[in-house]
Amino acid sequence: MAGLRALGRWIAIVGSLLALVCSCGREAERARDEALAQAARAKAMLEATRLEGERLDALRARDRLSTAEVESAPTAPTDRPYVLVLGTAQDGGLPQLGCRRACCVAAREDPSRRRSVTSLLLVDPRARRRWLIDASPDIDRQLEVAVDHPRGWSPPAAQGGRPPLFDGILLTHAHTGHYAGLLPLGREAYGAAGQRLYATESMQAFLTDNGPWSLSVAGGGFDFARIDPEHPLRAGEDLVVEALRVPHRDEFSDTLAFVIRGPERSLLYLPDIDKWERWETPVEEVLAGVDVALVDGTFFGPDELPGRAMAEIPHPFIFESLERFAPLSETDRAKLRFTHLNHSNPAADPASDAARQVRDAGCSIAQDGELHAL
Ligand SMILES: [Zn+2]
Ligand SMILES: [Zn+2]
Ligand SMILES: [Zn+2]
Repeated sequence: MAGLRALGRWIAIVGSLLALVCSCGREAERARDEALAQAARAKAMLEATRLEGERLDALRARDRLSTAEVESAPTAPTDRPYVLVLGTAQDGGLPQLGCRRACCVAAREDPSRRRSVTSLLLVDPRARRRWLIDASPDIDRQLEVAVDHPRGWSPPAAQGGRPPLFDGILLTHAHTGHYAGLLPLGREAYGAAGQRLYATESMQAFLTDNGPWSLSVAGGGFDFARIDPEHPLRAGEDLVVEALRVPHRDEFSDTLAFVIRGPERSLLYLPDIDKWERWETPVEEVLAGVDVALVDGTFFGPDELPGRAMAEIPHPFIFESLERFAPLSETDRAKLRFTHLNHSNPAADPASDAARQVRDAGCSIAQDGELHAL
């Protein structure tokens, strides 16, 4: 856009100069006419680009506001818990390092197309408490977004180190996008004292037995509490986080999804699963029991990663999910918001055909910064 504007100005200047130099006879007239025609073409191109920009902004706004219950961050409630979505990209983020394809080139040029790695902030403003769900490699940027949630929040006092930044950090599994954010909380950086981590037995063992996290565990920087299907987190009288075990590659730990139940509404967070059919729990049953579902939308279809065997990194393709969920009621389909988008996923661009298919199916693409009151 800025480039086009500069080009338009440049063409007009060159045209005027040409007209000055050939300031006599037909030559000058022709040059002036040509310069005017070029300036008119540049103006038309600028106008077309502006209209395209407006169309994209409108589509993005529609994605952000596609359910009535999605609120913008400034209107965070003060009287009930809420979830602030801190990231919606797959572990590698968007743009992803080293990618020179259109997906990431566009996101580098237009910051509104960037997505942080998947993570949520669960906030209870009544108790002035907050929990991080998944610690992503983008945690520094995400902490800036989270800084005033709940409003006026400051960390509780701590002894022997810096105070914990969260009342707890809940971890889904040991793939880097979901726990790498613990690194800057460790000894060489923030140096948290007694930051509580909620993890399964195998996730706890992974962090306890492997450096560099083992240093923070041994030094009291991190301590553990259990979360798994048998051990929900009771975060308040009317706020609970239940854990569901889901099939995922599980090289280093098992994998959880969470259902967060507040006083009025509930939210499913399920960023990674191999395939819906491999889960012994029918996802439709879980969907029926919640109000919002942020679910695995890593890939739209099977052709996104040329040269890579996608069977080795199974996820439900969005197009498969849309087919599977098509028989559901409009209400249940409207709960679905796809997250954990790989940089290659065309649905990350609201102007794409893939994003249109998601909207036409009555579902949505989740957006960084969206807020769900509970
Ligand atoms: Zn992941
Ligand atoms: Zn890319
Ligand atoms: Zn994973």
